[in-house]
Amino acid sequence: MSLRDHVITRFVEHHGESPSALVRAPGRVNLIGEHTDYNEGFVLPMAIDRECWIALRPRNDTRVRIHSLLHDESMEFDVTAPEPGSGWAEYPKGVAWAMTEDGHALNGWEGIVGSSVPLGAGLSSSASFTLASARALAGVSDISWDPVAMAKLCQRAENHWLGVHCGVMDPLICSVGREGQAVLIDCRNLDQRPVPLPPDTGIVILDTGTRRGLVGSAYNERRNQCEQAARALGVESLRDISDEDLEKGSIHLEAVPLRRARHVVGENTRTLEAARAMQAGDAERLGSCMNASHQSLRDDFEVSSHELDVMVECARGLSGCLGARMTGAGFGGCALALVEAAAIPAFCEEVAQRYTQASNFQPQVHVCRARAGVEWFPDAVSSR
Ligand code: ADP
Ligand code: MG
Repeated sequence: MSLRDHVITRFVEHHGESPSALVRAPGRVNLIGEHTDYNEGFVLPMAIDRECWIALRPRNDTRVRIHSLLHDESMEFDVTAPEPGSGWAEYPKGVAWAMTEDGHALNGWEGIVGSSVPLGAGLSSSASFTLASARALAGVSDISWDPVAMAKLCQRAENHWLGVHCGVMDPLICSVGREGQAVLIDCRNLDQRPVPLPPDTGIVILDTGTRRGLVGSAYNERRNQCEQAARALGVESLRDISDEDLEKGSIHLEAVPLRRARHVVGENTRTLEAARAMQAGDAERLGSCMNASHQSLRDDFEVSSHELDVMVECARGLSGCLGARMTGAGFGGCALALVEAAAIPAFCEEVAQRYTQASNFQPQVHVCRARAGVEWFPDAVSSR
């Protein structure tokens, strides 16, 4: 049974009737453009076919009641006065808080939430859940849906209500994703350009099975080092630095900020090149950009890990693999590979075998399709 049908079935069991609306919100993976978002640079993520689904009906008061299938647990709060607590309920509460702060009058709803985005694996289950919550609230409250404004609102919910310092890329791609396409995002002005995936290839996400607690502090340290480098180079952000500028200005930088800057400047160039390669249907060039990105993240930005390096090496040695790199903030989590479509089944089997032997961790392998961003289906159930 699909997850969509599963949340509908569970809604009927709970509430004794069909839901009046459904919400779908995808997770995401970033093809290239890592640690560039907070430097006002370029990123190239795609929304994926691992998704959060909500089946719901509006209430005639201002309460939200959600049952999470993942936690087998229900929670309830008042959208006009959410109170800080702990656990998964903080995501929809944070969204309600941010929407109220923006002056929206909110209605309540009740329903069932499920997700096929693995939690905490770096595929942005949190962004898919906040976007789905926002879409549900907007739907039952007759608030017109502005995809970019709502993505920023969801970022604010995670930043301020959850205290998680995520960038805007995650909620934005979950909001504006396109079927069959990745989206080139300029993080300075949030301009977006859909870019087709190369024909006859697929994206395979390779979860190393490792998670590092270090991510938060290392992330803040990298951000500071990038700001320090930008200041030393006399610009507001590293986005304003070209490869030539960096070469000329490098005497003003100490060794560590120089390496961080070299990654960010090079990664912006590679991300734009990757988008051009995709536009031209050049899968090999995209693969080379991904390989170079990994090397830079490992050696200059120093955010890879032993397991990520092992996974990338295992992938690259296999037939049909055009490129592989770590994806996400680093220190653990997922890598991704660009693989010729015909080679994908054998690739998935062999990469898992090789990685298990080389690392002693059990990997998760997800073959992904690019999906559209968050969707609201007001009468999806009755019209089936
Ligand atoms: P990531 O975004 O990389 O998956 P996070 O730690 O940012 O990891 O977010 C994971 C948390 O988001 C989960 O622990 C859970 O609290 C919450 N979450 C995400 N999706 C759902 C869902 N469908 N139902 C309930 N909680 C969810
Ligand atoms: Mg998250």
